[in-house]
Amino acid sequence: MPETPSIDVRELNFRYPGCAPTLRDVCLSVEAGETVALVGPSGAGKSTLLLHINGLLPTTAAHDAEQAAVFINGTPVIREHLTSIRKEVGFLFQNPDDQLFCPTVGRDVAFGPLNLGLARDVVSARVSETLEAVGLPGFEDRDTLQLSVGERKRVCLAAVLACQPKVLVLDEPFSNLDPRNRRELTTILKNFEGTQLLATHDLDRVVDLSDRVLLIDEGELRADGATR
Ligand code: ADP
Repeated sequence: MPETPSIDVRELNFRYPGCAPTLRDVCLSVEAGETVALVGPSGAGKSTLLLHINGLLPTTAAHDAEQAAVFINGTPVIREHLTSIRKEVGFLFQNPDDQLFCPTVGRDVAFGPLNLGLARDVVSARVSETLEAVGLPGFEDRDTLQLSVGERKRVCLAAVLACQPKVLVLDEPFSNLDPRNRRELTTILKNFEGTQLLATHDLDRVVDLSDRVLLIDEGELRADGATR
């Protein structure tokens, strides 16, 4: 029997209220452990598609499993499953300001695991481990607002990784990073063993990281093939 895809999108249609359709009949599937890049011009619908993957936008099927268009490891992304879906799917926003809201790095990274109900000592160990993994050891007490963009992006990634997701969804993870930060982030992502779907304009990173590329334009998936 074929394995259940990690991310499965079936004829996803979406329009923002009062706007033309942003996503049209999008179908895609990402297998467990695969790294897939989503490319396309600005305004093509990449962020909108990613936001659907952990239910951050209302879909036409928000309540109804029968009509769900997005599935994570076989579970429909509908309101009743959002808590469990968000345990499995870690989402890295393009802009760290959309993700970080605590006064210190340690509290931002601890927020997710505490919400999962983990004990404080377990959370504290996870915070140190993930900060170390993203190259920010000992940053727990630092003021988030006083970090560079590259450091803030890494704090966001630590916050996501601290929840130990099976699936990583990354929206323009390399934007506003200098070449060294891009290389370091690439190494961190290469070490992640789960499934990854990343939207990016950085074609060098696409070649370096992804097994497969999806091309989206005007809300339609136009190509799906091996990166080579
Ligand atoms: P991409 O990530 O490929 O740049 P987006 O998904 O951000 O594309 O945007 C796709 C289209 O949806 C664009 O035309 C954009 O202007 C529009 N859009 C994005 N967010 C909203 C919103 N909150 N309300 C209305 N339109 C939006």
